[in-house]
Amino acid sequence: MHKNIKTKAILTGFRRSAGSASTVEDPYVELERLAGTAGADVVDVITQPDMPPVPKYYIGSGKVGEIAGAVSDSGAELVIFNNELTPLQFRNLEREIDARVIDRTQLILDIFAMRAQSSEGKIQVELAQLEYLLPRITGRGVELSRLGGGIGTRGPGETKLEVDRRRIRQRISVLKKKLAMVEKNRQVQKQRRKKAAIPIVALVGYTNAGKSTLFNSLSNESTFVEDKLFATLDPLTRRVFISGVGNVLIMDTVGFIKDLPVKIVEAFKSTLEGITDAHLLAHVVDVSNPDCEVQIGEVEKIINSLGASDIPSLMILNKTDALKSLGRLARLKRSKNNVIAISALKDKDFSQLKLKIEDLLPDHLKKDYS
Ligand code: GDP
Ligand code: MG
Repeated sequence: MHKNIKTKAILTGFRRSAGSASTVEDPYVELERLAGTAGADVVDVITQPDMPPVPKYYIGSGKVGEIAGAVSDSGAELVIFNNELTPLQFRNLEREIDARVIDRTQLILDIFAMRAQSSEGKIQVELAQLEYLLPRITGRGVELSRLGGGIGTRGPGETKLEVDRRRIRQRISVLKKKLAMVEKNRQVQKQRRKKAAIPIVALVGYTNAGKSTLFNSLSNESTFVEDKLFATLDPLTRRVFISGVGNVLIMDTVGFIKDLPVKIVEAFKSTLEGITDAHLLAHVVDVSNPDCEVQIGEVEKIINSLGASDIPSLMILNKTDALKSLGRLARLKRSKNNVIAISALKDKDFSQLKLKIEDLLPDHLKKDYS
């Protein structure tokens, strides 16, 4: 019933988020994108000049008053902090502000909950959400559960906010047992999938790089009609026909995000575990973003830590239509192997990209067309 109504949200925090690597891009542009991904409509951004965090509210009490006023003016239901809040700060803020307060970690966990596909991923994300939530439950949660969930409440189920701490602890211990079982199972399935003949290309990359756009462009361009066999594939995997290879499964993945809180790295990795089954990693880069070289480094770090660095990879420099100068593009083309430049949005023809994919996939996976 509430599916199509976007949650109105206000973003807040210090102008430069604390602890964040210095980057060119305004941190609130990224936070707004994350909020949008989670289904929120940002109605206001209220930032505070940098200062040491205040123990009581994180931001200063004057700023809290300003936000409380903006909440009643705009009817916002959600206030999102661009940092992590302590349990005490949550409680104090919710006393002053007549809206649900969440922090960046909860927002990101919410996105993971939407994106987790495998049973292991779902359990990992729910575990992370519950462990994060446990010390932070406030009275507000119970009130708002009438609305039927919403951002920051997705994943563990809509009744989550009504359960007390004891029940959350019980759920955590059940999930941990389940996880151990699923992990055993996964090893078996992985062996099975490795033997399957259909090549898998995983689109990886920083959030907003254009992975989903490319995923759609590639699969729309494909004239192949879906058949029953693939009807059960999860929605983030689609089949694309590449001459010289045959059918290839293209997998879209959740975007990488910088300054990922350590506590939720495991949950994040579980949403990406599928990439270790891929035969080729296509690393999509928004080359029009002045921060893109930093982003490439972040993505490569995560790929390494997932144990996927020995999978062949291709770097797709995307959004060439939005480039203001060609310097960065030329530099990346020189310094990286297997690079191709495209515009996932504007290009009509992806045959060069498909040729590259064909080139980089192992021969034993290619159908014999001779
Ligand atoms: P993802 O987070 O990597 O999946 O990125 P999306 O595919 O959701 O794209 C993020 C934004 O970038 C959207 O607004 C797209 O329309 C835009 N975008 C994607 N590809 C291109 C491109 O080639 N050129 C331009 N100008 N914008 C693009
Ligand atoms: Mg996407």
